[in-house]
Amino acid sequence: MLARRYGLWALVIAIVLVAALPLPDFWITQLNYIALYSLVGLGLVLLTGVAGLTSFGQAAFVGIGAYSTAWLTLNTGLSPWVTLFVGLAITGVSALIVAAITLRMSGHFLPLATIAWGLSLYYLMGNLDALGKYDGLLGIQTLSLFGIDLGQGRGFFLFAWAVVVLAALAILHLLDSRPGRAMRSLRTGTQMAEAMGVNTLRYKIIIFVIAALLASVSGWLFAHFQRSVNPSPFGLKMGIEYLFMTVVGGVGYVWGAITGALLTKLLEDELQVLLPLLFGTSGSYETIVFGIVLVLTLKFLPNGLWSLVEQKLPRPQRLMDWANAPALTERPKPAHGEWVLEVQAIRKQFGGLVAVNDIGFQIKAGQIVGLIGPNGAGKSTTFNLITGVLSLTSGKVVFRGEDISGLRSREIASRGMSRTFQHVKMIPDMTVLENVALGAHLRGHQDVVAAMTRLNRAEERQLLREAQRQLERIGMGAHLHEQAGNLAMGPQRLMEIARALCSDPALLLLDEPAAGLRHKEKQALADVLRQLRSEGMSILLVEHDMDLVMDVCDHLVVMEFGTLLTQGTPLDIQQSPAVRAAYLGTEH
Ligand code: ADP
Ligand code: MG
Repeated sequence: MLARRYGLWALVIAIVLVAALPLPDFWITQLNYIALYSLVGLGLVLLTGVAGLTSFGQAAFVGIGAYSTAWLTLNTGLSPWVTLFVGLAITGVSALIVAAITLRMSGHFLPLATIAWGLSLYYLMGNLDALGKYDGLLGIQTLSLFGIDLGQGRGFFLFAWAVVVLAALAILHLLDSRPGRAMRSLRTGTQMAEAMGVNTLRYKIIIFVIAALLASVSGWLFAHFQRSVNPSPFGLKMGIEYLFMTVVGGVGYVWGAITGALLTKLLEDELQVLLPLLFGTSGSYETIVFGIVLVLTLKFLPNGLWSLVEQKLPRPQRLMDWANAPALTERPKPAHGEWVLEVQAIRKQFGGLVAVNDIGFQIKAGQIVGLIGPNGAGKSTTFNLITGVLSLTSGKVVFRGEDISGLRSREIASRGMSRTFQHVKMIPDMTVLENVALGAHLRGHQDVVAAMTRLNRAEERQLLREAQRQLERIGMGAHLHEQAGNLAMGPQRLMEIARALCSDPALLLLDEPAAGLRHKEKQALADVLRQLRSEGMSILLVEHDMDLVMDVCDHLVVMEFGTLLTQGTPLDIQQSPAVRAAYLGTEH
């Protein structure tokens, strides 16, 4: 946080200095372009860096912003301050449509769709008579603010960079918030986020729209700065260049976007002078050099140039200002001994393989039920059926008296069921505390706009306080500010349990929580599980460690080859000849 604030102040001071110094107008013009590129780059940080979505179509959104204001100010006499919002509205609607169509699909479909979008808009701009075809529109007015003409020099410079600073600040605030944590969880796949109650499609669409709106603002500024528009700066080539400069700068960092814009523009200027001298003829040689730079960056600095700076910066600890925040409200819990989960003959077929064959069992409030069986028995699949990650082939799951069969995993999460994963799923570049706070997603309500404007602080304090409380409950209080990716396996698993607890569940599903834990850690885990049970929590536990299972479980369900072998108390199971033959015999 502190480092980010230093960065911001450094940028503000640099901007004021540049405006005050007697720099040649040429450099002011270049810096104005860099501000416009940075705005588009900031959108790509969210889109590509944070959410892992690739778009080559940002230039088209710049075009929409530029052409809307150009046409409207020239033809209707509306003020640019009005046409800005018209442009944003047109951009927002078109981005929503593009997003709604493409973001449901996976893999390479999105980049392809954004290429198609960029191409079609380019030809639309170039062929509409009203937009002056490929000649574009000329004679656009400059911006004025409080009666002061911003012109094309220092006035515009200060204004454009103020917009960049505000946008950067808004994004930094957003990323450090409830919706921001949800957004940062998108890149590692949607399964964990959905299990924490995050509507991942909704956040992808929001990110796509924010990135488009930033591009649109850049286009609005561009039109009034350049005072003319034509299709070429909004074509596919520019769409690729925006992505290129942000990736080189560091697409994972807000400052990477600005670094990328700065370096690309400066390099471009130098190369346009140098290369023709070198080759003796004129031509767009800089494109070739850019291509080489991109390949080298991807090879040697995959996180971009800013990552070099980021490594050097200290990682200051977050100010812990939430000690006095009021506790989050808790859901009403089932009474002791009430049925919490009733699994009725659930079945899952993968093609010809019956991974789960009509399994049924029940869990009472305050019970720890163990689900055991050899590898491949179908335990994880059973978990995924109960939590809605996989769809049932047949059967029924009743949770607290409600039939939840067929519900999506985030809908099930919202009813008070929370889980961990056999293979830990987390956001490695977030702190332990932030990872755990993601578990409280459904207990907060403040969304994107509140986060950007910092109106979410009261709720944020509540969420972070809860995250800290759950981490302390599980004995991880000393690791709050560690980067999650740096944790050893044991603490990672504990962090997942804390994250699940953060959602205030009535039923906790733990998939092999002791795997990779040391003996001491296992004992601590057993204590935690018993403690949770004494507080009335119900737990479904998949576990290979027989000592732990026999130690903490009230009831055991034994699976083999997808079918239910037997169930009963740990003592029954230990004495069952069938279980000895099938399972325990192989364990010892
Ligand atoms: P366990 O957790 O008990 O080790 P799993 O539930 O992971 O077992 O797997 C049960 C069986 O289902 C295995 O034979 C596994 O190969 C198969 N299986 C699991 N997931 C899938 C899937 N998505 N597609 C096809 N087969 C699967
Ligand atoms: Mg498994």
